[in-house]
Amino acid sequence: MQSRKDKAEADITTHLKNPYDIVQGLLKDSTTALRLNENVYHLLKQPMRVLEVSIPVRMDDGRIENFTGYRSQHLDILGPTKGGIRFHPDVNADEVKALSIWMSLKSAILNLPFGGGKGGIIVDPDELSERELETLSRTYIEKITPLIGPQKDIPAPDINTSPKVMGWMIDEYDKLRGHNIPGMLTGKPVIIGGSAGRLAATGRGVSITIQEAASVLGMELNGATAALQGFGNVGSMTAEFLHHLGVKITGITNAHGGIYDENGLDIPDIQQFVKKGNVVHTYPDADPLTNEDVFGLPVDIFIPAAVENQITKNTAPAIQAKIVAEAANGPTTPEGDKIMEEKDIFVIPDILCNAGGVTVSYFEWVQNAMNYYWKEDEVNAKLTEKMKEGFQKVLDIRREKQIRMRQAAYTAGIHQITEAFHARGWIEEPYDK
Ligand code: NAD
Repeated sequence: MQSRKDKAEADITTHLKNPYDIVQGLLKDSTTALRLNENVYHLLKQPMRVLEVSIPVRMDDGRIENFTGYRSQHLDILGPTKGGIRFHPDVNADEVKALSIWMSLKSAILNLPFGGGKGGIIVDPDELSERELETLSRTYIEKITPLIGPQKDIPAPDINTSPKVMGWMIDEYDKLRGHNIPGMLTGKPVIIGGSAGRLAATGRGVSITIQEAASVLGMELNGATAALQGFGNVGSMTAEFLHHLGVKITGITNAHGGIYDENGLDIPDIQQFVKKGNVVHTYPDADPLTNEDVFGLPVDIFIPAAVENQITKNTAPAIQAKIVAEAANGPTTPEGDKIMEEKDIFVIPDILCNAGGVTVSYFEWVQNAMNYYWKEDEVNAKLTEKMKEGFQKVLDIRREKQIRMRQAAYTAGIHQITEAFHARGWIEEPYDK
């Protein structure tokens, strides 16, 4: 039987790994450090609306299975809420709430006219047939339809949701509404109103922040080394951009394992291998690498690009990288973060590092509203400008206040939102005297 002490320790560990607790803790610390009125914390700490839906799907064998889905809308004071939809067995209400708060901060840092939203379904998509997955995607949209729309809440892709899934979802929404509404969702295929450059946007943004961080540290990227955890949309695109910059990527992993080559992996060849339907850890021309070992590789840059709670008190001590670029949302626990601080690692926090996705989603939404589409070069140039501006804003706060990049990013996001609370008359004097 679990002793009282063991139970207390288990509770603390769970608390430290619950992303909702983590983001609330960071909000509390930041609002206190900024000497903001207590009311600001109370306005920020939870989403304004969370919907839980039951999604019945007729499976291929004839039985009905009920899946559970969520949509969380954090704040809409800067614009409609915006954020991805995740298909994963570990999805839960607290995770979706936390992810929606991070989306608010991310958009605020980059000056995008959005609040934060996030959705998810508890499901392992690998266990569903294509028809079952399509039915699940369409029925989820049907269930959340009253809450979404181009001026209300705009979904996008996240873990395990591709442009194809976005295509099914927008098709369902358009059918229900009776006409085409391309701006209701972003990350859709280009042929039905998606933006050029959206698929690669998050990875491109990650690589831009890495270039900025390298220049702060005086690190030459050509010839530098990197390792990645996660080789899905964000991880593989980031790897591609870094490869083109001359970075030698020695290790990559995914949920099933990974590969290592001390001389640098052939990223374009691995991408071709994966595109043909193979899984990364079966790539023949490299050594095997486990998800435990990827943290401790002797590299200059480490990029978590998978799920939450990967850099922990157990994995952080092994990290040798000088830059950690948080491509994933919430990859670091507070304990892991403390260890990175002690090791003086330059952390590019998630709410800045992976903001390229929502930025090009914003461009997609703008193009849908104009019915006029930009060429990819134009999208990429606008993305680069936005990411550099966001990075510089956070860096300036870091330098001025002598705080870490994560705290500086929270400061930037919270400041922007607080101004909006004030402008709308929700709070009188935001700062304590
Ligand atoms: P994806 O589904 O395309 O890829 C996820 C990758 O992570 C896969 O390679 C998977 O095998 C791996 N993975 C999952 N669990 C793992 C584990 N326990 N250990 C190691 N690897 C594991 O998803 P994605 O769109 O690339 O998203 C990755 C991260 O980036 C998520 O945190 C997501 O929220 C964040 N993000 C995505 C976008 C976007 O535009 N897609 C934007 C911003 C942030």
